[in-house]
Amino acid sequence: MDCLFCKIAAGQIPARPVYEDEDLFAFADINPQAPVHILIIPRRHIASLDHSAAGDAALLGALLETAAKIARDKGLARGYRVVINTGADGGQTVDHLHVHLLGGRSMAWPPG
Ligand code: AMP
Ligand code: ZN
Repeated sequence: MDCLFCKIAAGQIPARPVYEDEDLFAFADINPQAPVHILIIPRRHIASLDHSAAGDAALLGALLETAAKIARDKGLARGYRVVINTGADGGQTVDHLHVHLLGGRSMAWPPG
């Protein structure tokens, strides 16, 4: 499959890994929007959150649990933001489900 994040998870395209296990891969965003900006993805190709199914509940939970673990490891004790851009209006540009972990600065609300 011609998917950028599948290739990153498979090690076919270089990335700066932060965490990995059997199901998940986390790496530094190439265009960071905050001092800490990490993407957490399932190794299995799921095009977006909208393409996830009931059977993916454990995997979705693991994505969030891992985001929190990485945030603790990175010392983001003041807080952080977790974002899943979904579809065109959601601002999704890579069609492989990914969780953004952003931290190290104060965040504004609402997002753009
Ligand atoms: P989204 O707009 O939510 O689909 O997020 C896609 C993210 O992937 C953006 O923040 C990009 O900076 C990031 N990105 C694109 N290509 C790469 C890459 N080769 N390595 C790391 N991050 C990437
Ligand atoms: Zn993929």
